[in-house]
Amino acid sequence: MTDLHRLSIREMTEGLKSAQFSSRELTQHYLDRIAKIDDRVKSYVTVTPEQALAQADAADNLLKSGTAGVLTGVPLAHKDIFCTQGIKTTAGSKMLDNFVSPYDATVVAKAKAAGLVTLGKVNMDEFAMGSTSESSFYGATKNPWNLEHVPGGSSGGSAAVVAADLAPLATGTDTGGSIRQPASFCGLTGLKPTYGRVSRFGMIAFASSLDQGGPMARSAEDCAFLMNTIAGHDLKDSTSINKEVDDYVANLNATAVKGLRIGIPKQYFNVQGLDAEVKARVEESLKKLQDMGATLVEIDLNMTEAYVPTYYLIAPAEASSNLSRYDGVRYGYRCENPTDILDLYKRSRSEAFGAEVQRRILIGTYALSAGYYDAYYVKAQKVRRLIQQDFLKAFENVDVIAAPSAPTTAYKIGANLSPTEMYLGDIYTLAVNLAGLPAINAPVGFDTNNLPVGLQLIGNYWSESQLLSIVHQYQQNTDWHTKRAAIAEENA
Ligand code: GLN
Repeated sequence: MTDLHRLSIREMTEGLKSAQFSSRELTQHYLDRIAKIDDRVKSYVTVTPEQALAQADAADNLLKSGTAGVLTGVPLAHKDIFCTQGIKTTAGSKMLDNFVSPYDATVVAKAKAAGLVTLGKVNMDEFAMGSTSESSFYGATKNPWNLEHVPGGSSGGSAAVVAADLAPLATGTDTGGSIRQPASFCGLTGLKPTYGRVSRFGMIAFASSLDQGGPMARSAEDCAFLMNTIAGHDLKDSTSINKEVDDYVANLNATAVKGLRIGIPKQYFNVQGLDAEVKARVEESLKKLQDMGATLVEIDLNMTEAYVPTYYLIAPAEASSNLSRYDGVRYGYRCENPTDILDLYKRSRSEAFGAEVQRRILIGTYALSAGYYDAYYVKAQKVRRLIQQDFLKAFENVDVIAAPSAPTTAYKIGANLSPTEMYLGDIYTLAVNLAGLPAINAPVGFDTNNLPVGLQLIGNYWSESQLLSIVHQYQQNTDWHTKRAAIAEENA
């Protein structure tokens, strides 16, 4: 079969169970596509064909013996921020170019236990800091919709592999938008779960109070399948929450769009820099949801102006602390011929961290330093609480909140935005992480350059099922999520 990559995850699992094709055939199909297409997309940092085929054979044995799980034999790609035992985990950095983890991240372990087949590890902005994936030590990943554009970031490789059909599912992480924005730029569905829903164990830390892993795929249904696998409490992550996990697949029709109250924040649709076509596509999608029975309610989110400055203090502060472990001593890059310990620290860190990572370490260290701690870090934490309260107040009157995922479609590669311009592009996603809320991106059309536009829906805590369900029903009534980039239409 030449078109296995066109199947939905549900169709893939049915095809495997009914032996229409084997996991080995499916896996080989993707490996062939990667070999043929990925030198143009550059989404993989590491492809693991041998391990993938061995996992596929093991999956086929389970399928034959009738002991397979729901996703047994389905391939996926992991963002290169999730530790994989025996396979290099780089976080897109020269610092970890030689790093092989002695253990699997919980997300990776859960995927393995569910019988999913790992095709490899995909590219990302260095240490997940960025919005384009260009800051990777391994070079820029291309947007499958237009190879001259970025796929977004930091989970740009995860978005690109799915959009080019080089994997049917991918894991991503979202500290300030890194699942939703690349999903938006590549025409995919991506879910950032409630903080604590998915274990962070073995996920290389950027900003620990904001980081959260989640699924990226073509549809809400595909994401629900992966969420069923990766969500849940983990004793190895003290911030993961011990709360029953929904059956996200079974709940796909659980939320009625009819009668749903969707909050439209006044402040969000007047943001300077919101592209007119993005605005128009998002408004059309809201009209569609209205036609399906939802009510649109104008709301106020008064803290909107504080999102970017608050996040860009807290995230670098936490990053500066988390990244202090890369000292050239224990693991990771070590400079050549250090003259003493200070020289070892200094040169290892300045030779192996890229410019954006160094910028954040400097900002974060400054904000945490004695004398500035109260004025910057503590103040930002107070504002963070106000941002959270703003959302909780809004949720007294509405079920979900709608926004664009990003103010523009995908930037051109090499556009070379200043840090401030780049940070302002995160306006719609940052607050969700500051408040710890779940949010989803759904593709809702294209601009005149044929680049995808995304709608973001933000839910209250633990509303992952509701968000997936709303998007699922929207996708039953529209076909944006079925559109494929030309490169994805190519056969291997
Ligand atoms: N673009 C944001 C940043 O650079 C978010 C990144 C992320 O979510 N990992 O910090």
